[in-house]
Formats: sequence, structure tokens, C-alpha cells
Amino acid sequence: MKKEIHPDYKKSTVRCACGNTFETGSVKEELRVEICSECHPFFTGRQKFVDAGGRVDKFNKKYGIK
Ligand SMILES: [Zn+2]
Repeated sequence: MKKEIHPDYKKSTVRCACGNTFETGSVKEELRVEICSECHPFFTGRQKFVDAGGRVDKFNKKYGIK
């Protein structure tokens, strides 16, 4: 058996761009992601990352949405 050809699957910490961290299993000890379940618009209901140039703000003001 050649042990070294098998990746060492271990617990790893995923760090998101929003500052959230969570654990998962991976061959890497640390992973970096740009979006996670804590900051993804689908989960938060906010459009933090897809709001390009304040267009959503303008839309919200126009229709009186806070
Ligand atoms: Zn995040």
C-alpha cells in the first residue's frame, strides 16, 4: 500500500469573506470562500453582494422599501 497517494481527508476550517467560519471535511486545512450560508442573499434575504452601484437602494427608495 502506498499511503502517500491517498489524500489526507481531515477536518478543515472554511473562512468566508464575510468573516464567518465553519468546519467541513477537506484535504486542505483551511479553505477560503467568497460567500457562505451566512451571507448569501438566498439565506439572508439581503442583496449584499449583488448590489452593484447601489441600484438596489435606488429601487428600494423608489418603491418605499426599507
Ligand atoms: Zn459568508
